Amino acid sequence: MANLFQSVRGFNDVLPADAAAWQQLQRVAAEVFASYGYGEIRLPLLEHTGLFKRSIGEVTDIVEKEMFTFEDREGDSLTLRPEGTASCVRAGLEHGLLHNQQQRLWYAGPMFRHERPQAGRYRQFHQLGLECYGIATADADLEAIAVSARLLRELGLSGLTLELNSLGSAEVRARYRAALIEFLQRHEDGLDADSQRRLHSNPLRVLDSKSPQTQEILRGAPAIVDCFDDAARAHFDAVQQGLADLGIACTVNSRLVRGLDYYTSTVFEWTTTQLGAQGTVLAGGRYDGLVEQLGGTPTPAVGWACGVERLLLLQKALGVPTASGDAHVYFCWLGEAAQRAARRLAEQLRDALPGLRLVLHAGGGKLAAQLKRADRSGAALALILGESEVEAQTVQVKSLRAGDAPAAPEFVAWPELASRLAGLLKQSEPR
Ligand code: ATP
Ligand code: MG
Repeated sequence: MANLFQSVRGFNDVLPADAAAWQQLQRVAAEVFASYGYGEIRLPLLEHTGLFKRSIGEVTDIVEKEMFTFEDREGDSLTLRPEGTASCVRAGLEHGLLHNQQQRLWYAGPMFRHERPQAGRYRQFHQLGLECYGIATADADLEAIAVSARLLRELGLSGLTLELNSLGSAEVRARYRAALIEFLQRHEDGLDADSQRRLHSNPLRVLDSKSPQTQEILRGAPAIVDCFDDAARAHFDAVQQGLADLGIACTVNSRLVRGLDYYTSTVFEWTTTQLGAQGTVLAGGRYDGLVEQLGGTPTPAVGWACGVERLLLLQKALGVPTASGDAHVYFCWLGEAAQRAARRLAEQLRDALPGLRLVLHAGGGKLAAQLKRADRSGAALALILGESEVEAQTVQVKSLRAGDAPAAPEFVAWPELASRLAGLLKQSEPR
């Protein structure tokens, strides 16, 4: 026999046992985004490579070593999107959504980065993201963070830390850059190779280094707040004041710079200690320069993205109950008359009870074999229709939940079946 194909390394299947939790997360997110007036934008998976080089920055991990880039049949260089913001700005400019307007947008979907796969880090992973355009004041930073806080809360995720920093204006960063280079040069020998290389090309990136030795050196590095001008300080204060007003606790982390070059001013990350090294579940910030950099008029912007797999892992780690896609009801039948009646009844039940997940037995077999399938389906209830029930126009309803006391068989008349099932399922379903 030929060898079986396997999925590409770092590209995962989501199986039905897990898909319900994904669907629930997506549903909750769509509701949270809508509750703040954000509209969904659906973006393509493939873009011209230049878009990401120009936006994310040439000297970043993503562009230097993580992109899936290839030439298509016409010789154009294309890249599977590693993130959503660049595409969102590209689409906003292409369709005239950004000029002199305020836009509240969100997106969801797979992203692609050629990283070393491990728990919480994959080559195809999924993000939910939000982008807000046209608002220069701290209102937008605060709104973006408030949406993220609500989303995490509604997903049952607690114990997360909000880390906050500001990268100030271009002038602030230029001043800071000089101070940082001066500091790093004094410690150059102790830095990891990547950081030594970036010391001059992109010194802020060094703050993002994952090398413990470099991080140790950085403890003594100058903090960007010390280079703030009045405007940067006022904006940062307004964000912190607003968070306090909303009761959202945060920790200022002066080394937080984010792995993409387009950020200006506010940056933030929600982190957890529950997922080992992959502790950042949601991250974002202000990127006031990017729209202009991609050919638009100067447009203030704020956004964030979260890693769906990491949110799901965190739900598991915290024991948050999530939706199951299991059937509610498994419908057994014995004999041809019962099969025909069961088909009709099953359709009537699906009409009467929207959201009902009912599996109609197929293929015949003895009752014991059918009930075994019913058990394996995860259904809470089995319906049993035999010849005598067809005659009496009833159905036997049987609980399949282990732990439920074996009750006397209950026979329900066909016209009452839908309301009886609704009552029984309400008792047995958490939500
Ligand atoms: P990290 O430092 O973990 O590499 P990042 O700074 O590269 O993260 P962003 O580009 O800010 O990540 O993406 C936002 C979120 O997307 C991250 O906080 C994380 O939850 C998720 N994410 C990023 N890369 C991956 C990946 N390879 N696999 C799974 N999730 C990811
Ligand atoms: Mg990364």
